[in-house]
Order: sequence, then structure tokens, then C-alpha cells
Amino acid sequence: MREKMRLLIALQNCDKKIQETRKKRDECPARIASLDSELEMAEASLTEAKEKLEALKKDRRQVERDIEDVEVRKKKGQAKLSSVSTNKEYRAALKEIEELDRTRSLLEDKALELMEQVEQLEEEIKEGVKDLKALKKKVDGDRKVIEQEMKKLEDYLGVLLKEREQLCKKVDGELLSRYDMLRERRGGLAVSPVISGVCQTCHMGIPPQKFNELIRGDNLMSCPNCQRIIYWGEDEKLKLEGEGAEE
Ligand SMILES: [Zn+2]
Repeated sequence: MREKMRLLIALQNCDKKIQETRKKRDECPARIASLDSELEMAEASLTEAKEKLEALKKDRRQVERDIEDVEVRKKKGQAKLSSVSTNKEYRAALKEIEELDRTRSLLEDKALELMEQVEQLEEEIKEGVKDLKALKKKVDGDRKVIEQEMKKLEDYLGVLLKEREQLCKKVDGELLSRYDMLRERRGGLAVSPVISGVCQTCHMGIPPQKFNELIRGDNLMSCPNCQRIIYWGEDEKLKLEGEGAEE
């Protein structure tokens, strides 16, 4: 009887480990994907900054061309100034030149502002390139670690599945199908210790005479509440296996 119970406890421990290992393994691809998306975001923001820089440079070139235009128009205006014959024409030409000077001054301010923006953005991009390089290195390293971890989990899972297979061979067929059915219906736990008359999984008490019967350990018993296969949790001969479950 105890041997049967011991096997079931070992089987449950093995199943718990299988479940945990599968869960950890299945989390790996999502962890890698999140690293990749972190990198993609950094790349996208750098690309955006580079595009903004190109646009600023284009604006600056336009402003420089505008300044040249103003310059040309001013020269024409000055030429006109020396060729006008009336005061009225002279004043008009002068006014035009003054207007051009004002425009030029505004354009120069704008050019300066754009230059500052370009320089600042160039600095930011330089930093961004450096940061991206560091991030790439980190992501590559992290990815390798996760991949190795995943491989280890996969290997361990293989070992556990073999272990389960060996254990299943030792458990008799009927009991094994009962165990598997309970495991499926009871959230992965088919076997539960009972301590001081209380089922440690569903936390309900079992009748004293049943508990005494359990302590004697002559029969395989079920929790009257959750139907899990129960054993006396303080049984020294089973305890070692039970503690294994806490790992
Ligand atoms: Zn129970």
C-alpha cells in the first residue's frame, strides 16, 4: 500500500516539475520577442530622428537659397537707386531695399535657428547610434542566455518525461488512469496529504474514523470533499516523498 502511495507521490512530483518546466520553456519565446521589440523601437526612433534631420537640413538649404534671392534683389535695388531720376522713385527704391534688409535679417535668424536644431539633433543621433549599438549587444547577449536556458529546459523536460514513463510502468493501470483523470479534473493535483485530519489541498476536514484508517495505511483512500487520493502527511515513510513535492 505504502509503495503504491510512494509511487503516486513521486509521479505527482514529477508531473509538477513537468508542468513548471513546460511553463518556463513556453515563456522563453515571448521573452525573446520582447527583447526584439525593444530593439525595434530603438531603431525606429533613430530612423525617425534621421528623417527629421534630413527635413531640417532641407529647410536650411531653402532658407539659404531665399537669402541669396534677397541678396540678388537687393543688388538690383541698389542699381536702381543710382539710376532713378525723381525723389519719389528714389524713396520707393530705398524703401524696397530696407524691406529686403528686414526680410534678410528674418531669414538669417531662421537659418541660425535651423542650424542650432540641426546641431542638436546631430548630437542626439550620435548618442542614439551609440545607445543602439549597446542595446544590440545587450539584446544579443540576453537572447543567447534565453536560448541556452530554453535548451536546458527542453533537455530537462526530456529527462522528466522519461522519468514519468518509468514511474507509470510501476503504477498499476487502473490506479494510473484514476490518477490521470483526477489530475485533469483537479487542476494538476491528484494526490493530497492529510495532516491533523485536514486535507492539505482542499483544506476540508475528514471524519476522525477515516483519518484513523488513513494513518493505519491499509487502504488507498480518497478525500470525501475533493476526491483526491489522500495519504497521511506525517507518515515518516512517506514524508520524504511529500517533501520532495515542496521543491
Ligand atoms: Zn481534499
